[in-house]
Amino acid sequence: MADIRPVTVELAAGDAVTRASGELRRFTPAERLGRALLVLLVAIVASAAMIPIPIVHLIGVPLVLLTGIVLAIRQAMAVARLAPLRVACPRCEAMNTIGGGLGIRRVDAPMARACESCRRPLEVRLV
Ligand SMILES: [Zn+2]
Repeated sequence: MADIRPVTVELAAGDAVTRASGELRRFTPAERLGRALLVLLVAIVASAAMIPIPIVHLIGVPLVLLTGIVLAIRQAMAVARLAPLRVACPRCEAMNTIGGGLGIRRVDAPMARACESCRRPLEVRLV
């Protein structure tokens, strides 16, 4: 059973803050393991597909395997995923897309990012 909770997403730049409501999905340990194994499996299949290609297999196979291992570890460390949403920048009011991607490692810690429009540093907090 998926643990999906509504959260308030705050986008802060100094004292200026904008808010939007989002959905946070927390992964169970079994889901984290499953996501990590899926990434690893895709990497193994992709590297196996490179074996018959001359020259490319020399660097491609180890590179894809190594990338797969690193991504699998990152997936295993991701505890939750924020559904993609749009929040206005507190400075320039341009809409920024927050969330999506591979997942987040810590729900309680603020995440640093830059505004998609004005490039000012912003802080994403989940309340
Ligand atoms: Zn901005």
